[in-house]
Amino acid sequence: AAMKHLPYFCRGEVVKGFGRGSKELGIPTANFSEQVVESFPSDMSTGIYYGWACVGNGDVHKMVLSIGWNPFYKNIKKSVEAHIIHTFKEDFYGEILSIVITGYIRPEKNFDSLEALISAIQEDIEEAKRQLDLPDQRKFKEDNFFHLPECKIVKNH
Ligand code: ADP
Ligand code: MG
Repeated sequence: AAMKHLPYFCRGEVVKGFGRGSKELGIPTANFSEQVVESFPSDMSTGIYYGWACVGNGDVHKMVLSIGWNPFYKNIKKSVEAHIIHTFKEDFYGEILSIVITGYIRPEKNFDSLEALISAIQEDIEEAKRQLDLPDQRKFKEDNFFHLPECKIVKNH
């Protein structure tokens, strides 16, 4: 169920999350709107995925993505959040985030401590980096999906 819909292409606005404090952990996650989340296949498993991401018409970077149960909605709705493996100078709320999800790492888990959570996420990031270096994964970075025609016009002005 996790792999069946991959690669999965998705584009949408970055919205404010529910303040799980991801940024305080050093792992900010750009959240998609409820509308975008609703558009995901309902049988796509929750868990940790990896792929490529691009903010606006910026560069394409590696990312890890969580599809999880949204505590804000009493865990009846999903949330989709991307941690882009890149250091950005500023926040990008309101910008268009384009992603392609290309692989699955693991299901959602509960952790006994914050340290355990952070180290699991660090491992997910390392795993994503390794996988995305493989030729079959690298090719998605160059996908035409990331070349927005409108943005090219803006760039040439
Ligand atoms: P929220 O609960 O509002 O999602 P987070 O602590 O998860 O807050 O921070 C997410 C925000 O951080 C993103 O919406 C984005 O504007 C910013 N941000 C900065 N760097 C990154 C990054 N590398 N990956 C994802 N988001 C980032
Ligand atoms: Mg977030």
